[in-house]
Amino acid sequence: MDSSGQFVVSLDFELHWGRFEKVAGRRADQYYRNTLENIPHILGLFERYGIRATWATVGMLMAENVKEWRTYMPDELPLYTKSKYSAYAWFLSHDFPKEFLFAPQMVEQIIAVPGQELGSHTFSHYYGCEPGQTAQQFRADLQAAKRIAMDKFGLDLTSLVFPRNQLNEFYLPVCAEEGFTCVRSNPKDWFWQDTYRETWAKKAFRTADTLFPIGGRNSYVPDFCPSHPALPLQLPASRFFRPHHPGRGILNHWRLSRIILEMTRAARFGETYHLWWHPHNFGHHPQQNLRDLEAILQHFQFLHESFAMQSRNMRDFVAEAQLEPQRTPRSETSFVISPSPEQPRKLSRANREPTGGSACPPWRGEI
Ligand SMILES: [Zn+2]
Repeated sequence: MDSSGQFVVSLDFELHWGRFEKVAGRRADQYYRNTLENIPHILGLFERYGIRATWATVGMLMAENVKEWRTYMPDELPLYTKSKYSAYAWFLSHDFPKEFLFAPQMVEQIIAVPGQELGSHTFSHYYGCEPGQTAQQFRADLQAAKRIAMDKFGLDLTSLVFPRNQLNEFYLPVCAEEGFTCVRSNPKDWFWQDTYRETWAKKAFRTADTLFPIGGRNSYVPDFCPSHPALPLQLPASRFFRPHHPGRGILNHWRLSRIILEMTRAARFGETYHLWWHPHNFGHHPQQNLRDLEAILQHFQFLHESFAMQSRNMRDFVAEAQLEPQRTPRSETSFVISPSPEQPRKLSRANREPTGGSACPPWRGEI
């Protein structure tokens, strides 16, 4: 890979499958209608500005209807200690509008646009760090996700985003065995660690960090040497693209400015900047959110012309990593984190900082 900066975009496409345990059966018809209407506009912007993106999609969403949903259900379902986390239990006890759960036609539209990768957000919006579920149940879920994507779209899913960013490091070998070569990991800041155990402080700091430089530097230089064949590449997220809210006044501008500045720094120093969000985040105030997205993409275009910054989806990284001539074991190094542009620092086993995910998840499953 050359020394140009990289702009990575990943979206968690889930509709209500990603919110069922938070808002249960509460209707939000216009919100989801807007979400579905917005996606072609997002795709249009991506095409106009040459953006390659990974759409980490819930497998259940790829089903046409309930009958097909049942067809692809895995034999082993996740047996969470708290059943509220089970998409199956929720679905069977709620009569939710099906058009906000199943959207294979939207997946067709996404994959028809050049540079768009269909990734996985598991089959059932699976919570990998919640107690009760096992590695075997996780594996069955991944297999179901891969099966429906292959049967319906002829695509092999290789990039994975863990729902609720619950990256369970004990499950990474399972991911690799099921053919996943890249996963999104979390920023290294403390308020992005152990996302299975949310606290008021973490949420507050995460929100504040979208406005002010509270966390550490979130762009990085991926070191592709450590492509250990037994584990997927972990590609850290840099920033969640928080949606516009009319009641927040100047804070909307600060939020956007922070992203612009971070992108600029990444482009200038040849680093990677990974922006992510959910399509449904544009469900409220869609016009303003699309305008904000276009402002970001226009800035990318400027950075592309000025610093040769490149757009990449998650799969692109793996493809380019495979072209790297030299490799060392992943356990030795993971990413080069630069505390200052002048002094790049390579992490070693001795001084390694978390690259995101759960260094010590509460639930290892039965591996
Ligand atoms: Zn999700």
